[in-house]
Amino acid sequence: MIKNKKTGQIIVISAPSGAGKGTIIKHLLENNKKSLWLSVSATSRAPREGEQEGINYCYLTKEEFEKRIKENYFLEYTKYADNYYGTPKKYIKEKINQGIDVILEIEIEGAMNIKKLIPEALFIFIMPPSMKELIKRLKMRGTEDNEKIMKRFHEAYKEINEVTKYNYVVVNDEIDNAVNKIEAIIKAEKCRVDRIEEVYLDTKEEEIHELIMNGNFDNRGIGEKME
Ligand code: 5GP
Repeated sequence: MIKNKKTGQIIVISAPSGAGKGTIIKHLLENNKKSLWLSVSATSRAPREGEQEGINYCYLTKEEFEKRIKENYFLEYTKYADNYYGTPKKYIKEKINQGIDVILEIEIEGAMNIKKLIPEALFIFIMPPSMKELIKRLKMRGTEDNEKIMKRFHEAYKEINEVTKYNYVVVNDEIDNAVNKIEAIIKAEKCRVDRIEEVYLDTKEEEIHELIMNGNFDNRGIGEKME
């Protein structure tokens, strides 16, 4: 009766650092291996302990990053906490055409640039349960000194005030709960009427007439005549 768009969609996920976005996305990818793909960004910041090239980020020097900006390599890029971050254009279109949803895990300025370029993308903001909890998570992560944490906290504070620019907000009070909510949002988005390409009648007029006049129905299925 309806033919839906088969293409994947762009899902932009933003959150202040320390809100638990990384863990949520990890779970989302594990649960939806075939239908979700995470775009790996490039950055000029140094890798944190445990981070891997090509998995967490593609790590570039500031000069390399600036060269790629000039080469029009990025769909969007920004400077955040003194470092460059950017989404490579490569692969995104390919994944979308294969029907795979693409997650862009980016900060708000980048998200708003994507909104201008691709207004139909889905924008989800992950909110920490409280500011105290956010500071606790940043401190416990132990990857930044106090000065850097302060900088990130101020960025986080600014970002939280921009939440209404997104389509959905999910509070990360408990990981499984937050993951379930995001999966539900993605499912619901697939049912939006603007994804319909065609509405058609799947049964011929004569058949409809015959079914109405002479069809006997039981719970074995539509159109089966009872013996
Ligand atoms: P982190 O240094 O904690 O990994 O990332 C800092 C911020 O940069 C996070 O909010 C993260 O989502 C954002 N970010 C990561 N990659 C990109 C990107 O490609 N573009 C933009 N605009 N932001 C990004």
